[in-house]
Amino acid sequence: MSTAVVLNLPEYGHMNATFALVAELVRSGERVVYYATEPFRERVEATGAEYRCYGDPSIFRPPAHSGGLYGVMAFAIGLAERVLPGLLPELRALAPDYLLIDSLCVWGNLARQVLETPAAMLGSVFVTDERRMTVEDMVRHAYGQVPREVLLSGIDALNTYLMTAQRIDRQFGTESPNMVEFFSNRQSLNIIFTSRYFHLAGDAYDDTYKFVGPSIEASANPEAAAPDPRPLVYISMGSIFNDLPDFYRACFEAFGGAEYRVMMATGKVDRAALGAAPENFELREFVPQLQVLSQASLFVTHGGMNSVSEALWHEVPLLVFPQHGDQHLVAARAAELGAGLTLRPPDIEPRKLREMGDRVLREPAFRAAARQIAGSFRDAGGPRRAASEILAWSRR
Ligand code: UDP
Repeated sequence: MSTAVVLNLPEYGHMNATFALVAELVRSGERVVYYATEPFRERVEATGAEYRCYGDPSIFRPPAHSGGLYGVMAFAIGLAERVLPGLLPELRALAPDYLLIDSLCVWGNLARQVLETPAAMLGSVFVTDERRMTVEDMVRHAYGQVPREVLLSGIDALNTYLMTAQRIDRQFGTESPNMVEFFSNRQSLNIIFTSRYFHLAGDAYDDTYKFVGPSIEASANPEAAAPDPRPLVYISMGSIFNDLPDFYRACFEAFGGAEYRVMMATGKVDRAALGAAPENFELREFVPQLQVLSQASLFVTHGGMNSVSEALWHEVPLLVFPQHGDQHLVAARAAELGAGLTLRPPDIEPRKLREMGDRVLREPAFRAAARQIAGSFRDAGGPRRAASEILAWSRR
C-alpha cells in the first residue's frame, strides 16, 4: 500500500473530476489523503480518502480575475504563500509516496520540489503544452486584443505574482513556474480528464499525457423523469461567477412561452431581483446537473470544462456563453467540432438568443457532433484507467 496525497483547488470544477479516480485508488488498496476545505469534506470522505483541511475556506474564494491569466496566477501564488507554511510540515509527517496535484495547484508543484516526492498532474481543464508554446506566444494570445483596463490589471497581477513567487522561492528554495509552466504544470505523469479528440491539439501531447476522459458519476438518486413530452433546455452558468442577472433576464425573454421547458440554475443571483419567471421555467439555486443533463436537449452554459464535458457525455449540444479564461477555449473547441455555437455579448439579445437556441435544438448535426465527442470520452478509459496509469507509474 502506498500513501498518496491529493492537493487540489477546492472548487467544484477541479474537485468533481477527481472523486471517481480517488475512489478507484482507495479500492486498489492505496491510502489517499485529500486536502480540500470544509464544504468538500463529505464528498472527499465518500471516496474512502482521508480528508484534511487547508484551513479557512474563505481565502479560496476567487476574485473576479479581472487581470486575465496573470490574475489567475497571482491569486494562486497568493494561496500558495498562505498554505505552504502549514502544509509542508504536515506533508513531511505524512511522508507520501507520491502527490496528485491539480493542473492549477501551484502549491502542489512547489511542495513537490521541497519534498522531492514524485507527482502526477490531474488536469480537469485544458492544459498548455510547454514544449510547443513560448511565454511570448501565450502573452500575445492572452493579452493581444484585450481592453486597456484588462491589460493594466494584467500588469498589476504579473507584478504581484513575481513578488510573491520571489518571496516563496527565497523561503523554500523552490523555482516558481513561468506563465507557460504554470498552466501546463507538467509532471512525469499527466492525467487529463478529457479525450485526446476533445483536447486542443490533443495529438501533439506526448505519452506522459494520459487522456482518460471525464469522470462522470451516474446520479445516485435520480428523480423520476417527468412525463413531459416537451424538450428540456437547461441553463447554468456554473458554480462560481454565476451572478449574471441581465443574462438570466434575457433568457426569460428569449425562451419564455416557447414550446420547451426550461430548467435554470440561478446560483448566487438575487432571485427577487430577476422578476417573475415565465411559466415554462423552473428556477433552482443549485441543480443536480447530471440528472438534468440526462434529460436535456440543449444546454446553455458558461463553458466550464466540467459542465461542457458532462453535457457532451450525455450527447447534449451546447450554446456556450464564455465569461473567463479557459471557457473561451472550451467554447471554441466545442463549436469547432460542431457540437454547439458560441454566444458573444451582442448575441445576448432575446430574439438572437432564441434563434440560436432553436437552431442548435433543431439541426441534428449538433447532436451528432456531441455524440461523436461522447464516444471519444467513453473510449478514453475513465477513472479506472486513470487509477491503473497512476498505480503503474508509482510502482516504476
Ligand atoms: N454544478 C451543479 N449544479 C449547479 C451548478 C454547477 O451540479 O447548479 C456542477 C456541475 O455539474 C459541474 C461543476 O458544478 O461539475 C461546475 O464546474 P465547471 O467546470 O463547469 O464550472 P465552474 O463552476 O468551475 O465555473
